[in-house]
Amino acid sequence: MNTLCALCKSASKLMSSHIIPEFLYKTMYDQKHRFREISTLKDKDKFHQKGIKEKLLCTQCEAKFSAYERYASLVLNGGIELNMLGHKGYVLVTELDYEKFKLFQLSILWRASISEHPLFKEVKLETSDESKIREMLILEKPGDTNAYGCIIAAITFIENPLTDVILQPEKIKIYGHPAYRFVFGGFIWIFSTSVFTQPNELSDSFLNSENQLKVYLKDAEKYQPLVEIAQKVYIKKQISIKSPFNWRYRSIEEAQESFIYRSNAKKIAIFNVIA
Ligand SMILES: [Zn+2]
Repeated sequence: MNTLCALCKSASKLMSSHIIPEFLYKTMYDQKHRFREISTLKDKDKFHQKGIKEKLLCTQCEAKFSAYERYASLVLNGGIELNMLGHKGYVLVTELDYEKFKLFQLSILWRASISEHPLFKEVKLETSDESKIREMLILEKPGDTNAYGCIIAAITFIENPLTDVILQPEKIKIYGHPAYRFVFGGFIWIFSTSVFTQPNELSDSFLNSENQLKVYLKDAEKYQPLVEIAQKVYIKKQISIKSPFNWRYRSIEEAQESFIYRSNAKKIAIFNVIA
């Protein structure tokens, strides 16, 4: 069946696209490569094969997004050499590829906005922003630092990463500016939906065109939206993982080792708050 690709609008056979990229679900998979979705409103766990997918993109556009995802996966799961400098409350990552990582971020925000899945029902960009971001993605131009910037915080839980929780994205205000808050892949992602013409109080926290990114550190136990959920679902168990954060793994092997550990611990949850 041919339909229009949401990005390039060409009539073609559409691929099943992930809204949140597959690599960010990986730690939630069980041994049969399914991930468990636990609804806070339903008693039964539902099993899905490969995360939330929708027919959105043609093969070419899907490949375009996959390239950003490959890069982001290397950054977040290890496999790429990055410079990191610890500060109080955050780690400064330098030598990041601004273009690829920013396009990766924009592609998630845009996909969530056009998605019809109930998990993303609160994410709806203004039509003008949605089409502006679509154009940025088509042209592969990430804009500057203050255009739809994103703030990232790594979530820790009992000093270990909380990589296996997805929360329903919400509309929030940050310093009075509209934004969407996502929680997935062990991080809180706050997407600003504004294009600021002047630097402001948020600019310093955005991934910037100088290839720098501040990754804030957030203790899950002090992060209200997660506290309740963490208490409900998490098996409170002291585990030992060499490195406290996913993105600090220097090798694929090290990340895999920790992934295997987490799979065995069966700390799996996706929060799909669907009525
Ligand atoms: Zn397309």
